[in-house]
Order: sequence, then structure tokens, then C-alpha cells
Amino acid sequence: MNLKSSNLPTLIAMDLEGVFTPEIWIAVAEKTGVAELRLTTRDIPNYDTLMKNRLRLLEEHGLALHDIQAVIGEMQPLPGAVELLNWARSVSQLIILTDSYYEFIAPLKAKLGNPTIFCNSLEVDERNHITNYRLRQRDGKKQAVLAFKGLGFRVIAGGDSYNDVAMLREADHGLLFRPPANVVAEFPQYPVFTGYAELQAHLAKLLGLGSSPAASHAPAGGRSTRGDVSKIAFNAAAD
Ligand SMILES: [Mg+2]
Repeated sequence: MNLKSSNLPTLIAMDLEGVFTPEIWIAVAEKTGVAELRLTTRDIPNYDTLMKNRLRLLEEHGLALHDIQAVIGEMQPLPGAVELLNWARSVSQLIILTDSYYEFIAPLKAKLGNPTIFCNSLEVDERNHITNYRLRQRDGKKQAVLAFKGLGFRVIAGGDSYNDVAMLREADHGLLFRPPANVVAEFPQYPVFTGYAELQAHLAKLLGLGSSPAASHAPAGGRSTRGDVSKIAFNAAAD
């Protein structure tokens, strides 16, 4: 099968949290001791309700944007993430699509080598408290993939959770990276990867690059690790 099915240039669209960085809200919950901040779209499916609840909790506990930024400033990319990003950006085009906020991700963006990131914005008052959030558009990840295709790109999209599925569906090639078991079970059409070497090997193949140095370190015969997801330790986050 010819995986490079067209002559269109390729753009790789990847999620951020759970793929290249830990989950931000979980880190904030752990550092601040506000356990309710761990709630995700799995617990509160409506994103607006979830975010309003988070903002109410921040206000109740007197947490300002700079408190959150201090936590995020201590976070590091997942081991191997920077190398994967640098490789992908050197051989193709890569844009990170996340539902997070520019005000949150700035320190992590620098640690990731300043890749292009499309995300949302926060509204902050004179006390530096977050008063609201502003989505650039509804279904931003899906709309971005549709727009990239409209611009003449073949799109490879990857993510780890429910909020990525709409963009995977619109992409020419979708994949899951370190997803929770229920996402694996619900979306069996997408290959699952648990390591960056395997992910790189898969991307290299989709890009028509053949084997690459890191790809040669992938487990023999194990491009997709769908059968091994029970071994993954993951945070039960979904946004
Ligand atoms: Mg994610």
C-alpha cells in the first residue's frame, strides 16, 4: 500500500497535553492542593461548565494567573517530546493544536523549542485573577484540520483523548498517543502509540521517509502498540 497517497505537502497536527507535556490542570491541582481542579471533561462533559467551575475554584482559593503560571513554569515536557518535535519539524511541518491558553503555555512553549501552537485566551482582571476564557472558535482543533486541508495540505493528526477525536476524524491519517483505555476501546480505527520512537517510525512511514535513525530503535514488528495499552500509566484527564 502506498501510504503517501497524494502529492500534497503534509502538515502534522498534534495535541499538546498528554502528548508532549503532562496535564496542566492536574499539575495545578497537585501543587495547589485544590483536588477539584483535577476534574476533566470526563467528570463534567460540558466544557463551559467545567471551565466556569475551575475559574470559581481559583477565585475561592484566591489563586491568580501568576500562581498558575508559577506551577506551569516548573513543568517539563515529557521525556523525548522535544526530540520528537525537532525531528518532525525538520522533516515536515508541525502545528500543535490545544484547547489550553496562551497565558498558560508560554513557559512550556519555550521548553518545547517554540513550536507553532494554536490555542485559546484568558481574560484577566486588574488583580491578575482569571475572570473568563475566550475560545478562538468552537471545535478549534477540528476547524484547524479542515482549514489546513482547505489550504492544500495532507494532514496527519494525533492526540490522546476525546477532545482530539473530531480532528482525527477530519485528518487524512489519525493516530492516538498514550490514550486512556476507554478511548482506545471506543475508537479502534486509530493506531495507538505509547513511545516516541514508535510514533516517529509511523510518521516517517506516512511521510514516505522510510526508516530513520530513531525509528530503528522501535520494537521489532511493533509500530502500533494497541495491544499494550493496559500497561500505560496515564492521568485520567480528558481536555
Ligand atoms: Mg491531550
